[in-house]
Amino acid sequence: MPNRLGLSLEAFKQLIAYHFPTLKQTELPQPQRQLDPDRVDERDELIRLLLKRLDDGSNAVSDRPAPSLLSIDPQPSQQQRWMAEIIAAGCMGSDHLWQDLGLWNRAELSRLMEQNFPSLAQRNTGDMKWKRFLYKQLCEAEGIYSCRSPSCEVCVDYHACFGPEN
Ligand code: SF4
Repeated sequence: MPNRLGLSLEAFKQLIAYHFPTLKQTELPQPQRQLDPDRVDERDELIRLLLKRLDDGSNAVSDRPAPSLLSIDPQPSQQQRWMAEIIAAGCMGSDHLWQDLGLWNRAELSRLMEQNFPSLAQRNTGDMKWKRFLYKQLCEAEGIYSCRSPSCEVCVDYHACFGPEN
């Protein structure tokens, strides 16, 4: 993870004060890893995706468009904002997302996604690897369909997108 879990200094201080109110922040170690400046746009796209509100059609009327990512949630909580930035920073890593986030396994990441971004998490119906899932959402939002098969079940890349992450 980059400095301060990818959060700004101010946001990181707020996060620490929220979760560890008695900790003296002057004692925090100085991190060394910077976010790659060439990937800031990518990181910001991921944050926007995570904070978007999914219209799942549950209140649908007949002429309503198909479920789609519509707009930024008018009021995502502070915790959601922190978590969106942390997850986006984790996506810049080169290992499985749960590993780069310092979690124990993918199930923990699934729980984190369901708790913080339930609408988006519900779209991952096939238990796709989360980093793959997030980037696939971005590609589809841009109209980019780079999959080599029309169906995951018969795709040669199936194990790259699904399956265990150990
Ligand atoms: S398994 Fe194949 S078709 Fe499915 S998301 Fe991955 S690359 Fe695309």
